[in-house]
Amino acid sequence: MTQVVEKIKALRTALHEHNHRYYILDQPTISDYEFDQLLKQLQQLEAEYPEYHDPNSPTQRVGGGVTKYFETIAHRFPMYSLSNTYSKEELELWEERIRKVLGAETEIAYSCELKFDGVSVSLTYENGELIQALTRGDGTQGDAITTNVKTIKTIPLKLKGDFPSFFEIRGEIILPWEGFNKLNEERAVKGEPLYMNPRNTASGSLKLQDSSLVAQRPLNCFLYALAGDNLPVSSQFEALEKARSWGFKVPDSAKLVHSIDAVFEFIQHWEEKRKFLPYEIDGIVIKVDRLSQQQELGFTAKAPRWAMAYKYQAEQVTTVLQGVQYQVGRTGAVTPVAQLEPVVISGTTVKRASLHNADQIEKLDLRLGDRVYVEKGGEIIPKITAVDSSHRGAEAAKVHFISHCPECGSPLEREEGEAQHYCKNELECPPQKMGKIQHFIGRKAMDIEGLGAETVSLLYQEGLLNSIADLYRLQPEQILPLDRMAEKSVTNLIEGIEKSKEQPFAKVLFGLGIRFVGETIAKKLAKQFQSITALQEASLEELLATDDVGERIAKSLVEYFSNPKNKRLILQLQEFGLQLQEVEKEQLLHPSFSGKHFVVSGVFEGYSREDLKKEIESYGGSIVSSVSSKTDFIVAGNGMGPSKRAKAEELGIPILSEKDYNSFKG
Ligand code: AMP
Ligand code: ZN
Repeated sequence: MTQVVEKIKALRTALHEHNHRYYILDQPTISDYEFDQLLKQLQQLEAEYPEYHDPNSPTQRVGGGVTKYFETIAHRFPMYSLSNTYSKEELELWEERIRKVLGAETEIAYSCELKFDGVSVSLTYENGELIQALTRGDGTQGDAITTNVKTIKTIPLKLKGDFPSFFEIRGEIILPWEGFNKLNEERAVKGEPLYMNPRNTASGSLKLQDSSLVAQRPLNCFLYALAGDNLPVSSQFEALEKARSWGFKVPDSAKLVHSIDAVFEFIQHWEEKRKFLPYEIDGIVIKVDRLSQQQELGFTAKAPRWAMAYKYQAEQVTTVLQGVQYQVGRTGAVTPVAQLEPVVISGTTVKRASLHNADQIEKLDLRLGDRVYVEKGGEIIPKITAVDSSHRGAEAAKVHFISHCPECGSPLEREEGEAQHYCKNELECPPQKMGKIQHFIGRKAMDIEGLGAETVSLLYQEGLLNSIADLYRLQPEQILPLDRMAEKSVTNLIEGIEKSKEQPFAKVLFGLGIRFVGETIAKKLAKQFQSITALQEASLEELLATDDVGERIAKSLVEYFSNPKNKRLILQLQEFGLQLQEVEKEQLLHPSFSGKHFVVSGVFEGYSREDLKKEIESYGGSIVSSVSSKTDFIVAGNGMGPSKRAKAEELGIPILSEKDYNSFKG
């Protein structure tokens, strides 16, 4: 028993340490694979011994916890905002004011830091463990986002070194450009509206209910302030260094300087360099370094008197708005794009800028021919931030968002609470039709090798591909004459399509792209109804009786199957021989397993626990989680739970070791 506890402890310590080396120090000492193996071991042990649960175990990083409602909690120490300025003269005035309080001849050191543009967060640590994460909120109270924050790898769940037993630390959660641009590229491919900027995206991510989704966002957290009573430091810069030694991510861009001129140098230095940072900053924060001096200076109602933010002007140019085009994505979302008179910003020529949605156009009160301000941060697509209306002619035409789809002409709709307009003509609208085909061939659906997005759009343009059924009508001699099509690629394509007929029913069902029917739901529906025919005939009530199927999904299914075009499509797919029902697995049934109940416990050498369970199920056995009189066999690996063993012995249930199991299945 104690052995297991020791093992779990050792794994946790090792994983915390490796996490720190990888994410904070950037000096990993083991491979990603080895890390994953250790994590898996720990996950298995934790599943086996839930009594040793630890809310700060490294396994919490992958998320899974769901926050239905973010509780509002008061800050122990208020979270102030910062006074800010865009001018050096004002900074000099600030220094004068400080000197009036501290004395003209006093030595004042300044901690100069980057002003990270993200979401501020306050983390509470007790005995070196993260116990709470709050947003700034209104400064006196914020929302508890602890579960989501634990998925951010640069935030330590356990501290090292000589940390105080109880303290708070503040920092900024940011989304670096790379992650932001990647998310937007993915959204563009799916035809979903783009995110405006990394800050909003980070903030939205932290308010997702499902923490496993947060875990997938490459969020980062930089720490910049300690809060607490009796902190073991006497200056801000020391606080940064201490925090770093306890395992926090504190960028080494911070600099301690001893004059206001040196502050200006720091500002100058980053004015250019910030453009090459992998994340966005919107300025510099200057803080009086000594805590005793900070105390003397105190706070205004909103901000400390001992700190000042110097903000950089964003790089902006002006140009002329020539027109607005509208793009229809694969989901039918319509995005307005400004056509600009070409202009150079940060060394690249810009001709287009995103306008996001109708509200944005309305807010800017855009007219054709307007002189507009265009800004480019690190994001790929520049944006229009303002209009110079002094240049506007009297009869300039106001930009009105379109009412009909530019691709298919059907009226656009905008749902309550949504910013985006949609074209709902999903079966006829060209980009949406193509989107459906692309979804169908995707890796998680039919996974058709040799066929990619570009080929689909080529075949579509050639009139060879109008629906997913057309895939199965393609003939080599039709494709061969097309651009960039060699004999080999055509053979691969046709073979890939042919092979897709073997994909199981659940994948076909997911591939149909029925609204709200994701991968998991498709699997559950396939299992429950066994065939597309049964599914088509199911009533709303019958659909609702399926695991995880709610009103929204059930209605969407009924609507889908009541459309004659969809019915025809399914008939065609049936004729082509796609799997539209679950295949019998009878040939696999194993006489020693069939109808028997198994408990699987412990860690195995030749199997992961999941694989072992799958194998038992594939032989016709069923898996149960706890030992009872109905259990037929226990398959026990290393470190089987002692209570399980005792119970099994008491009930006289045979316990199979891994070796026994292997000979049992023969
Ligand atoms: P503002 O939101 O413009 O009032 O600026 C104050 C915010 O700047 C704080 O709430 C922090 O979220 C953020 N900030 C970013 N970097 C720093 C830093 N190095 N020191 C203090 N605050 C920072
Ligand atoms: Zn349309």
